[in-house]
Amino acid sequence: MNKALRKAVIAGNWKMNKTPSEATQLLNEIAPLVKDADCEVIACVPYVDIAAAVEATKGTNIKVGAENAHWEEKGAFTGEISTGMLKEIGVEYVVLGHSERRQYFGETDETVNKRTKAVLKAGLKPIVCVGELKWERECGITEEVVARQIKLDLYDVTAEELKNVIIAYEPVWAIGTGLTATDDQAEEVCAFIRATLAKLYSKEAADGVTIQYGGSMNDGNAAGLLSKENIDGGLIGGASLVAEKFAAIVAAASK
Ligand code: PEP
Repeated sequence: MNKALRKAVIAGNWKMNKTPSEATQLLNEIAPLVKDADCEVIACVPYVDIAAAVEATKGTNIKVGAENAHWEEKGAFTGEISTGMLKEIGVEYVVLGHSERRQYFGETDETVNKRTKAVLKAGLKPIVCVGELKWERECGITEEVVARQIKLDLYDVTAEELKNVIIAYEPVWAIGTGLTATDDQAEEVCAFIRATLAKLYSKEAADGVTIQYGGSMNDGNAAGLLSKENIDGGLIGGASLVAEKFAAIVAAASK
């Protein structure tokens, strides 16, 4: 399958930014700027902003995502949010295994796998984040790191379920640092991810998977990154908080 047949997806990851009223304001600014997008547009927002985001995006082409989800359906998990809660409130996508969760909150590939399976079971779409640390790249083990994450995070995910999975390749050294992988560096790893998926599933299944790049993607570098054969979209942190910048990335993905 060629890139043109895959779904291009631009998702904002707002992290711990914006109150509900600020979320409404930002989405009201973004909506008219992306209304003609020829790609999927998603805002992944803090839990408390979800209701406001669902309301603000009604009648628009913007989908709402969450930034995490627990794997159990309910129970004694103080402070956690279930997939059922997210689904009922109007969430369609869930970011999982973001490097900040791995780095600061003890997220492991085992828990990313549990979350991925729970999200799929609930009929939601996971955006599963993988990527190497700076020193892992320097040691020349980027491919080992990413292959391990893909294998573990997607363990027991069926080929049918894979159709609803988005992979975000996010080199950790590029997230929020202003450093971006070059177009060729990003393409090399995204192509490797697709080849890994082909080994685990089939070429046909791998060819259908949307693979995003994330890591200081912005209005200036998006077009180059998105022109690459295996980069089907972006997961955007900082630039997703500025309507014009986010809209420019969406426009670049729509070409
Ligand atoms: C992210 O949070 O996933 C991210 C890529 O952040 P930034 O665009 O700010 O590097």
